[in-house]
This record gives sequence, C-alpha cells and structure tokens, in this order.
Amino acid sequence: MAGKRSVEHISAIHLESIDQLVERAKELSPNIDADTLKKAYQFSEKAHEGQFRRSGDPYITHPLGVAGIIADLGLDQATIITGLLHDTVEDTDITLEDVKREFGEEVMDLVDGVTKISQMKFRNTHHKQGENIRKMIVAMGRDIRVILVKLADRLHNMRTLNHMPYEKQERIARETLDIYAPLANRLGISSLKVELEDLSFRYMRPEIYYDLVQKVNQKKKEREEYVSQVIGDLEEQLKEVQLNPEIQGRSKHLYSIYKKMEQRGLEFEQIYDLMAFRIITNTVGECYSALGCIHAKWKPVPGRFKDYIALAKSNNYQSLHTTVIGPNAQRIEVQIRTEEMHLIAERGIAAHWKYKEKGQIAADTEKKFRWLRDFLENSGVQGEDSDEYLENVKTDLFETEIYVFTPKGDVKELPEGASPLDFAYAIHTDVGSKCVGAKVNGKIVPLKYRLRSGDTVSVMTSSNQSPSKDWLNIVVTARAKSKIRAYVKSEERKRSLVLGKDLFEKELRRLGISVRRLFEAAHLEEYLRKNGYKSEDEIYIAVGYGKVSVEDIVKGLNPDLLPQENNPETKEEDNQSFLDKVFKSAQKKSKKKGSLISVDGMSDIMVRFAKCCNPIPGDSIVGFISRGRGVTIHTSTCSKAYEIDASRQIDVDWSDNHNQTNNVKVRILSQDEPGLLRKISDAFSSADANIINARIRTTKDHKAVFHFDIQVRDTSQLAMVIQNVQRIKGVIGVERE
Ligand code: MN
Repeated sequence: MAGKRSVEHISAIHLESIDQLVERAKELSPNIDADTLKKAYQFSEKAHEGQFRRSGDPYITHPLGVAGIIADLGLDQATIITGLLHDTVEDTDITLEDVKREFGEEVMDLVDGVTKISQMKFRNTHHKQGENIRKMIVAMGRDIRVILVKLADRLHNMRTLNHMPYEKQERIARETLDIYAPLANRLGISSLKVELEDLSFRYMRPEIYYDLVQKVNQKKKEREEYVSQVIGDLEEQLKEVQLNPEIQGRSKHLYSIYKKMEQRGLEFEQIYDLMAFRIITNTVGECYSALGCIHAKWKPVPGRFKDYIALAKSNNYQSLHTTVIGPNAQRIEVQIRTEEMHLIAERGIAAHWKYKEKGQIAADTEKKFRWLRDFLENSGVQGEDSDEYLENVKTDLFETEIYVFTPKGDVKELPEGASPLDFAYAIHTDVGSKCVGAKVNGKIVPLKYRLRSGDTVSVMTSSNQSPSKDWLNIVVTARAKSKIRAYVKSEERKRSLVLGKDLFEKELRRLGISVRRLFEAAHLEEYLRKNGYKSEDEIYIAVGYGKVSVEDIVKGLNPDLLPQENNPETKEEDNQSFLDKVFKSAQKKSKKKGSLISVDGMSDIMVRFAKCCNPIPGDSIVGFISRGRGVTIHTSTCSKAYEIDASRQIDVDWSDNHNQTNNVKVRILSQDEPGLLRKISDAFSSADANIINARIRTTKDHKAVFHFDIQVRDTSQLAMVIQNVQRIKGVIGVERE
C-alpha cells in the first residue's frame, strides 16, 4: 500500500521446514545466523525423534511452529533457538548441560525458565492458578523472553487444539482467556492477544462463535465494498492536506464483537461499529492533521475520542481513537498512529527488545513498562496467599485504565474503579497508610469514591491514621491491597503475640511448669527449626492465633514436665479448664471493646465463622469452643453444629455496631441468556454487596447455575440482594447456600 511496508501480523502460515523459518527470521532480524538455527533444529528434531503430536505429525512441527511465532515477533536469535528447544529438556533425554554445551549459557537459562513454568501443572482451582501465575510472574522478572516463548507455545497449542479431546479443549481455552490473553495484552502484544482470544472463544462457546462467523460473512461483500469506499474517501480527503498515509480497514475481531454484545446485552444486528479503520502516518504531527481532516468531513460521536498519544497506556500503546458518522450514516471507528506506534501496538514489549543487553530489558523499555516492575515488586509480599494473589493479579491484568492528575499535574494511571486510597498508595506507601481523605477537583470526597479519568486528586493525611482491614474493601490495585494486608497482618501478629504469651504463661502456671525450665530444654533450637518457628515469639504467636495448644508445645519440648496422672477423665477436665481460660481471656479482650460476648468484639484471632453455614449478622447464632482454635460460630439452624459436644457450647450474639462484612454463598438458577451475568452483578452492586467469587455453569436444558460468594453486612442486606436478583427477568430462583 502506497509503497510502504506494513508491519506484518504474526502469520498463521504453517511452517514446513527450517529453511522457511530462517527466511522468516531474516526478514525482521537480518543478523540471524542461519547455521546456528539449523543446528538447533536438527538437535531438537533428533531429540524428539519417534514422538508425535496428537495430530499424527512428527513432534518437531510444534517447536518449529513456536520458533516461527517468536521470529514473527522480531525477537532475537537466542529466543528463536529457545523456541526450537523449549520442550527438549522436559520431554526428552536432553539435559540443561547439553543445551549449554551446544548453545551457550543464555539459551540454557531461557530453556530452563520455560521448562520450570511448564512443569507447573495448571488445575482449574483458584488456588493452583494463583500459585502458577505467581511463578510465571517471577519467571518474567528473571527474563521477559521466557514469557514470550511461553505465549508463543500457547498460541501454537491453541492453533492445533482441535486435535485435543473435547473436555481438554474447554479447559485449555478458558485458561488461555483467563491468563495468557490478558498477559499478552499487558505486554502490549495485540497480535497475540487477538488471536488467543478468538481461538479461546471458538473452543469455549463454539455455537456462538460459528454463528457469529456466519453472520459476519453474510454481508461480507457489502462490507468490503463499504471499506473500499471509506478508504477511497479518506485517501482523497487526506491528499488535500498533502498526506499520503497507509490506510487499513477490517472487521473487528470476533471476540471483541461478542464481548460488546454480552456487555451491553445487544444482538449482533444491533452492533453498528463492526468496522475499524487504521491510518498509519510518518509523524505525530500528521496524526493530528489527519484527525482534524476526518472530523471536518465526518461528524465525530461525542465522548468517543481518545488521545492515547498524549496519554500512552501503561502497556505503551499509543494511538488516536475516534468514532465518526461515516458514509450511509454508519458509525466507523478510526485509529490514527505513526508507524513506530503501530509496531509497538502489534508487538508490544517484543518490539522493544534489544538483544545486546543479555537478559536485561533496556533501561528505557524498563521505564516504559513501569507497571511490570510494580507488578514484580508486589509479587513477593510475605504471607499473601495464592487466592489473594490471583485476585490482585487479575485486577491488574484486566481492568481498563483511568488517568488522574496530581495537584502538580502529573498523570497517574489506575485501573477502573480505583479509589483515592489507591491513588494515595500509588504515590507512596506512607501517603497511603496515613490517608484520611481526599479532595477530587477541589471537593472533599469519601475514601470509597470511585475516581474518573481527568480527576485531579489531592490526598489529605494525618500522622494519627493507620490502615484498617476495611480498606481492603475499598481499594482495587494490587499495590494498595498488598501494603494494607501486610500492615493488617503485622498488627494481628502483634496482638496474637500479646494474647499468646498471656495464654502460654497462664497455662504453664496451671500445669506447674516454669517458662524458664521449659525453654531450657536442650533441644529448643531443634524444636523451633522442626516446627518452622524463627524465634520463641513465634511460638506465642501460634498460640495466640490458636494454631497450636500449649500442651502440645510442652509435649514437643519436654514431655517429662507434664503432670503424670494422665487418665482420660482428668484429661478431659484439663481440657475443660484450658478451654475456660481461652474463653475467659477472649471475653476479657472483648470487654475492652465495650461489648459483652460479641462475636465482632472478640476479633478474628479468637472467632471463626463456620464455613458450612457462613453466619452473617442478623442470623441467630451459637458458639462452640474448640480446642486450640478459639470459638467457632455456627448459625443455630446449622446441622453441623449439633454434631458438636454440647458442653462446648457458649452463648454469643452480634454486637450492635458491626461494620465488617461477612461472606455468604448464594445460588441462582436462571435461563441461559446473554447479558444476564451483568444484570445480576448490577443487582448485587445496587444493594452494595461485593462479589468475591463467581462460578457459572450451563445445563443441557439451557439453564445457567451461578454460584456467588458475596460480602454483606447482615441479613437485611442479603434480603435486599435476593429481592433485587429475583426481579431480574430470566432468573428462576435465588437461594442462600
Ligand atoms: Mn511446547
């Protein structure tokens, strides 16, 4: 087009031979050494000899395909070689030493990284996914090329997914859509993202996918004519201002059409902006001239203009976006960008790759991918469990961005839904933890205010302020969440240290053992090490948390110190008196907060809500003292509660001022209709209830079953939620589980 070489998409052309790979690699990286590539191919082919893909093809077709994708991304020689070798160490007799001897340390490190990720088995549970993403992110920190190889590997596997058994297809496709496509998007590699999304879509919802394919194809000819008309008009118009850019027009990818239908509850026929046009210019100035020219010819749709050139996305994407009313009163979307911006849009971080600095992202790239560094820094927070991690990572991977300003005019990018607290934490941890409020555009707003693009935010701080657990319900960024959690956890540790030490000493006194004598035991060090305690304090903390009983500690350290008469009856008595003490102590703590045996007052150290019935304020409840685990609260109707020894039962009640939220499970049966999920989640949020987790499955008779974990304050809020959901058309039934 106009004599310019456009940036090639990653081509899905099946590579037949190593010669083809060399040819393709040389197109983007002329310095590639053909002999080394050929050597790597032969090495891999020999290693995989006798192995076959499910399709029946020799195994080598897979590494060859992966290397082809890597070459199309314009990556360096070491990464292409890694593509060829990526499965050798895992699936053949080849060792990392062999790889190092033949191809050097850099390739060995890369293959090692890819192998380590591959050995992690992805399962469909949240927990595993969280753990695995964490490992991926850590690998990414070591060398971003490892993830690029992994993405190429996944893309090739998705391209050949039709050879997999049906059940596996869906699982792999879902995982791709959940993790790999967002990751590609975050790395700015839209060519990968688009193909991964469409392939996942095809295997996850084949009936909808093929229906869309058919509908898009129906008016193909008409649309093609329209595209060439628009391109012709644009060329003519731009020529008048001496511009001769490359212009592309195409249908949007299927998954993005589907998502739009789903989100807005529209039918295919109601989606008017199916076509996207792209203008690729030489300079930034030309981008704005072209924009002015287009707006002069066709009326822009208000609110649809976005200047990502002045305000680049955090994945480095730059472009002008506008939607205009084109010929035949049809809406068309136009993106305008320079060639360099286009390259970055298609290849993202891969376009920045400079292979001179082995394994290191060049300094300027690193600066541009600042989110990546933040991401990595937040990956190592101690004590953060995998579910929390997954939740955080998902927010950061998925959410669209908003741009807000500091009072000095600096821009901060935050995910949609971010609060002033997120903003404060983005500035500095101390600003976040001391934040008492904020002004948005000069007006004081509550902490839970949702920021909008263009807001100017100034944070108010106070030295008396400290983070609270409730803040976790307000913030959305991983950074704020992990900082708040770290603080809350360290406070809980402090509290359980005091409580634990107290309990420990009292219990020893009762048993007639002195703390000194107990800790004099010769193998204290060994005991600490064996139980993973770093210090004596950690023993107290464990007692305070209710993780271990004092008697068990004595048994472990020096059982001879325990009183001799160990017949079952006295033992039970001992337990009972120990339990009394736990309980009295809990009671004492709760009194400090001014309420009687209020379950909230006892704090999370001593109180647990039973998972079987998930009591929430308003429910009638009973408490059971459990050995070494504080008090467990059940609803008084819970059948599990009656299996527990009645002598352990205590009366409990909700305190008046409960402002914490509790989790509760809700099950919804509905017709399987598009848009319903959004309506249900709207119903939740209009009752001010947070969704923690959602699982959806559809049945053969076109019904959908939703399982939600939501956070509510009490039963009356839950009643409101249920009422809201019941009103939705298509919902058959709602119940608390
Ligand atoms: Mn592979």
